Amino acid sequence: MTQTTFEHHRTRALAELTVPFDVIVVGGGCNGAGSAWDAATRGLRVLLLEKEDFGWGTSAWNSRLIHGGLKYLEKYDVKLVRESLREREWLLRAASHLVKPLRFVLPFYERNAHHRYVLRTGMLAYDALSFDKSVPTHRVFSPADTAELIPGIDRTGLQGSAAYYDGQVEYAERLSVEVALAAREAGAVVLNHARVDRLLTEGDRVVGVEITDLVGGGTHRASAPVTVNAAGPWLDEVLGRLDGPTPDRMTGGTKGTHLVVDPWPGAPRDAMYYEAMTDARPMLVIPWLGRYLLGSTDERFSGDLDTVSTDDDEIAYVLGETNKIFPGADLGPEHVLWAYEGVRPLPFSPAGPTSDISRRHDVRDHAPQIEGLLSVVGGKLTTFRQLGEDVSTAVLRRLGTRRRPSVTRRLQFPGARAADFGRFATAFRADSPFPAPTAERLTAIYGTRAAGVAAIAAADPALAEVIDEETGAVAAEVVFAVREEMAASLADVVARRSMLGLSADLGVGALDAVGSIAEKYAGWSAERVSDDRAAYLRYITRFRPRSTV
Ligand SMILES: Cc1cc2nc3c(=O)[nH]c(=O)nc-3n(C[C@H](O)[C@H](O)[C@H](O)COP(=O)(O)OP(=O)(O)OC[C@H]3O[C@@H](n4cnc5c(N)ncnc54)[C@H](O)[C@@H]3O)c2cc1C
Repeated sequence: MTQTTFEHHRTRALAELTVPFDVIVVGGGCNGAGSAWDAATRGLRVLLLEKEDFGWGTSAWNSRLIHGGLKYLEKYDVKLVRESLREREWLLRAASHLVKPLRFVLPFYERNAHHRYVLRTGMLAYDALSFDKSVPTHRVFSPADTAELIPGIDRTGLQGSAAYYDGQVEYAERLSVEVALAAREAGAVVLNHARVDRLLTEGDRVVGVEITDLVGGGTHRASAPVTVNAAGPWLDEVLGRLDGPTPDRMTGGTKGTHLVVDPWPGAPRDAMYYEAMTDARPMLVIPWLGRYLLGSTDERFSGDLDTVSTDDDEIAYVLGETNKIFPGADLGPEHVLWAYEGVRPLPFSPAGPTSDISRRHDVRDHAPQIEGLLSVVGGKLTTFRQLGEDVSTAVLRRLGTRRRPSVTRRLQFPGARAADFGRFATAFRADSPFPAPTAERLTAIYGTRAAGVAAIAAADPALAEVIDEETGAVAAEVVFAVREEMAASLADVVARRSMLGLSADLGVGALDAVGSIAEKYAGWSAERVSDDRAAYLRYITRFRPRSTV
């Protein structure tokens, strides 16, 4: 690999900044990347800017579900549920390597605030609203069948259960990465580690941005008649970078905690969606990468978004509720491998129950106070494509350009481009020189792009070597991340490309191997690798790895 592949891309992208864009998108989470993708495929000249890395923010630290949101039916938000179910179906097809059907069991208890007949009505409505689905409709189980299905479940007052399907994206980070790649492929100029420090104005109009290049250093400017603020929970912080008066506060995040634990005796095979005993909140137990995700909380948050971490009382709450529904689990803080925290970018709402805050997205035009600026409030992982379509429709309206219809609904993710993905995966496993677990992980993570990893390994046998026993990751993935997927730091490679960062040790055991491959094949200096290593070890303290809980 030439030392300069990544630098080449970046130098070219930075050189493009001098030519005006139609639209600048700030924020490379699923919603910013989705907006850039939709706009680029509609023929606009697009710049996407992310201060850290694609999928670094809330788009990584969520429940990793592609779901209609059964709970939103309680709020009669039929439009949101239908939209989400339609997008779920699209994602099951368009990102078939990343998004898989997942069965949920919802137990009915005498003690539940929601009577079982209400829950059954909700299930019927959910099925009706997903009339075009490819997953099975819901089923109801007796108490005895439920206990057989989930041996460890609390049987006190158990009245039965219902099973239904939603989707799961185990590697949520890669969803944003692949959408950013799709945007680039469609012609967008795409830069990670490029922080927007100022929204530049002329009079009452935003005309562009000033950027700090956090890889090569230095500042740059880019101009466009429309800028989209898709910074998720950072939205108000970005508005604070306006030259001129700051608009009223638009978002008020609520933070949600998930705990990662190993399977315990009696743990469910299916995901579980149950009601917390303490406060009747919806809670989740989700099988995930051979472990379990337990969550989540939903509390107003106003601290530093860049360093948000999990509190002891959140850990105690989630473990407490899990132990109540699984009395034999006996999970304590010592069982938590690590914990993560995300901040929901919700519309600002200073009081009232957080569950009452709408989960819909809204594209707000700041005109007439500020021209040329749109802000995206809210939005789920599940609905990022629809949000992107809505954003670029609004951009086209602002530009006064002839309306071009959105095409993203007809497109596939870069890693899902095969007539039959299942057949591709089987053939890849059969033909590849890798051990079976490696071949399997490569198709699960990269989809059809696994062929690109295999090609790198075929060119240099040293790169076919497994560098991490737990996951079966190979050296070629590091080269692929830097060469093909815009990874610019060890953290990018570990946490959002190879997904080594989701291991029990958060990828720490693989860091040295990843670093030496980056040194040898990507030409990173020993100093850069050492600084990156230290930065990653500092970064993951927020996840409270087991040794520190
Ligand atoms: C606990 C929890 C559970 C959830 N579960 C689900 C779920 O199961 N399914 C689902 O569909 N949704 C779920 N969500 C919601 C979903 O994850 C988010 O709504 C979605 O990821 C928001 O994406 P985003 O792109 O708007 O924001 P983000 O992913 O946060 O992206 C914003 C980006 O802007 C960047 N940025 C900030 N400032 C600047 C700047 N100055 N310059 C350049 N870039 C900047 C940040 O670095 C960040 O990467 C959950 C959310 C939480 C918190």
